[in-house]
Amino acid sequence: MANTFIHKTAVVDDKVDIGSDTRIWHFSHVLQNSIVGQGCSIGQNVVIGPDVKVGNNCKIQNNVSVYKGVTLEDDVFCGPSMVFTNVFNPRSAIRRMDQIRPTLVKKGASLGANSTIICGVTIGKYSFVGAGAVVTKDVPDHALVKGNPAKQTGWICECGEKINSEMICCVCQKEYQWLTDMDSDSTTGNTIAFVDLAAQQKIILPEIEKNIQTVLQHGQYIMGPEVKKLETQLAKFAKVKHAVTCSSGTDALIMALMAYGIGYGDAVFTTPFTFIATAEAIRICGATPVFVDIDPGTFNISVEKLKKTISDFTKENHSGLKPKAIIPVDLFGLPCDYDGINMIAKENDLIVIEDAAQSFGAEYKGRMAGGLGHIGCTSFFPAKPLGCYGDGGAVFTDSDEIAEKVISMRIHGKGSNKYDNVRLGINGRLDTIQAAILLAKIKIFPNENQKRREIAKRYTNLISLLNNADNILLPGTFEGYKSAWAQYSLLLKNDKIRSIIQKQLKASSISSAVYYPTPLHLQTAYRDLGYKQGDFPMSEDFAGRVISIPMHPYLKEEEQLRVVAGLNYSATIPNT
Ligand SMILES: *Cc1c(COP(=O)(O)O)cnc(C)c1O
Repeated sequence: MANTFIHKTAVVDDKVDIGSDTRIWHFSHVLQNSIVGQGCSIGQNVVIGPDVKVGNNCKIQNNVSVYKGVTLEDDVFCGPSMVFTNVFNPRSAIRRMDQIRPTLVKKGASLGANSTIICGVTIGKYSFVGAGAVVTKDVPDHALVKGNPAKQTGWICECGEKINSEMICCVCQKEYQWLTDMDSDSTTGNTIAFVDLAAQQKIILPEIEKNIQTVLQHGQYIMGPEVKKLETQLAKFAKVKHAVTCSSGTDALIMALMAYGIGYGDAVFTTPFTFIATAEAIRICGATPVFVDIDPGTFNISVEKLKKTISDFTKENHSGLKPKAIIPVDLFGLPCDYDGINMIAKENDLIVIEDAAQSFGAEYKGRMAGGLGHIGCTSFFPAKPLGCYGDGGAVFTDSDEIAEKVISMRIHGKGSNKYDNVRLGINGRLDTIQAAILLAKIKIFPNENQKRREIAKRYTNLISLLNNADNILLPGTFEGYKSAWAQYSLLLKNDKIRSIIQKQLKASSISSAVYYPTPLHLQTAYRDLGYKQGDFPMSEDFAGRVISIPMHPYLKEEEQLRVVAGLNYSATIPNT
């Protein structure tokens, strides 16, 4: 090859391909079937191969072994004495060369002096591994990682300089998109998580393991004894006669609608300011959602507007739809005004299906969420107040007849057995393993519920002390209502302030979320319902300026202080 230099002390085996302008220095060895690209510099005492591919313009410094299984793309820098491994659990006496885990180092990455790359990982494009770091998992593109085990501490530009929190290179000013969510796998030690399931797991892990072990032993993965046991506890907690568990909150809503025979030609009144599943369940059943705007104080369906919508609907009903039910949603954990709603339902002969997906644990005038309408539905999605480790849900009712129908419906509408089908049903069961997990979680749930209330109270106190508190509307508290605090949501003055606060929180490694950015009547999939911008001004307005901050029972006071400091934007923007 043109201009290739191989020092006379270096050994290059047969069937090796070395690119032009590549130099190989003293005592290095390239083993057979390896390819080294053009313009590379291979230092002293380097081993490459067998069967290794090194891209173009790579620099491999002294004392590096690039073993079989490792691939270097172009422009990779391997610092002096850094280490690749290729077997995860080597034993001298056990042959494991058939268990090589491949390692890929992508274009432009730099691996610092003395760093160690545990086999099986991918090192992202232009990422930077600090000197001495021990990399045990994949490194994202442009990430800067340090330490043992290596953790991400920032972002690095193609030019090798840091990228700041605005995602601009401090030196060359190159702009980047937000690459990946830095806190997505809590790579930074001091990130404040939105929901901290790991902290909870620490407390209940032995119980969970024991419960799962029991399931593994009896092997009844479908409708095992844990399911019934859980249902008894759920019913007791929600103060209702029956709790019927099921596969998700969405399926709970679908089965509740089906149990009351709601379908084609029926109208169901609900809020547009909710998760899509509420309206989706209505449409899956063939019925039509009729939206009613929210009450600005609670974010929940407005009782006055509900009354007006129903009365207008019955007076001038052009659609031919028959009003059948109301689905109030206890948004963020706060129950709706059920006295008002149940009264309207009674007057108009409507069924009240409570969407308590976010409010399990909440109270309304001494009664528990889930039991506030004719039928209640909740979700055990992991981030909900009571969550499992997958999907799950439950239906609550005092009616024996409705409970029996749901029990049948969740197993394909079974009659006396699974192969005798007496009504339309679905595959809607809760897994036994999820029930086993929930049995461990429900034990600590009352305590967690209490902790959430204390944490919410502390947020409210702290936030009201901020200089800019006037621009932040706090979640209301109401006589007779106890929220489950699934979310702690604030209403900011406008969308501009929200985006400043979002950026500020992100820069301080604090998670936040927007529930919900688009009201349901403006969703693409619901366009055929004929709604337009302006139909529900409260929901539309709130979608533009609501924000939810970290909320879980394990939030520490100092973390709350940090979150609240992140809301204090007056310090960083000039008066406008
Ligand atoms: C989460 C949620 C649902 C759906 O629950 P899944 O278990 O995810 O199906 C329904 N309604 C509301 C308001 C929710 O927040």
